[in-house]
Amino acid sequence: MANVIDGKKLSEDILAKVKQETAVLREQHNIQPGIAVIIVGEDSASKVYVASKEKRAEECGFLSNKYELDEKTSESDLLALVKELNEDKNIHGILVQLPLPAHINADHVIQTISPDKDVDGFHYINAGKLMTGAIEDAFIPCTPAGIMFMINHGLGKDLSGLDAVVVGRSNIVGKPVAALLLAANATVTIAHSRTREIDDVCRSADILVAAVGKPEMIKGDWIKPGATVIDVGINRIPAPERGQGKTRLVGDVEYQTAEKVAGFITPVPGGVGPMTIAMLMANTLKAACKANNLPLPKF
Ligand code: NAP
Repeated sequence: MANVIDGKKLSEDILAKVKQETAVLREQHNIQPGIAVIIVGEDSASKVYVASKEKRAEECGFLSNKYELDEKTSESDLLALVKELNEDKNIHGILVQLPLPAHINADHVIQTISPDKDVDGFHYINAGKLMTGAIEDAFIPCTPAGIMFMINHGLGKDLSGLDAVVVGRSNIVGKPVAALLLAANATVTIAHSRTREIDDVCRSADILVAAVGKPEMIKGDWIKPGATVIDVGINRIPAPERGQGKTRLVGDVEYQTAEKVAGFITPVPGGVGPMTIAMLMANTLKAACKANNLPLPKF
């Protein structure tokens, strides 16, 4: 049976370190990391994410400012708020919760955030730094950063000689994860919806990252014995066994069959999910240090 990589425990360790370093920053330099979280509209899942980001930020000792904007807010008003926060000395990280309402171009908004406050790591400057290997200087998107932390926890930092397959090529997960794996010396394949014989491609992987959004697509017999399997998917499926109308969360990997084959595996829930918020806090602390020319914390 696979060793389970416990994202809840790892994320708590990261948050404890962020909290500790924040206390030092406040005591020794009188600097409080500040994060601004902007949410537009009433999307209920987004509201839950924003509330948990706010809670974590407060627990870490950050200044946490939430901006809840009406669904009808214009793109120009949102851009004006982002520009104002770019100039605010008390705010080191700006996060605009996605998705945005259809009348707002998310890319315009993301590219308006100062790259130095882009704690989500979605700005072209940070994406470019990641792709060119300037990783120490970049803000790495939080989910990929959490995924790499888990892989390094299981396999160490140097992945030389290992074959990695990333299923999914989104800008927020698949592509940055692939860049991080490459930077750690893995040999990387990115698979997607047009990949032929994807089960065979997956079977070649020593490290398999599933970021597809298709419930339990990857079966145990797609996995090389002993492989490290990171399941990024968060999919809600009906669970009639729990009662009428009930649902449960599953990943992109069929856990029951995969855990019998894999060497390391992440569960859903309690795997990659909690790592994402922990890495957001780590990025905000880093942004506060960077803004004040202080040494950057290492995670
Ligand atoms: P996305 O933007 O929808 O991208 C999905 C990717 O999967 C695309 O590249 C798509 O290929 C590929 N794909 C779709 N169907 C496929 C198939 N049948 N075979 C092979 N590839 C297929 O999704 P995302 O934002 O990367 O998120 C992926 C999953 O991770 C979702 O379940 C999401 O909820 C979850 N997620 C979790 C966290 C977390 O904190 N744990 C954070 C972000 C996302 P094409 O490009 O060819 O269409």
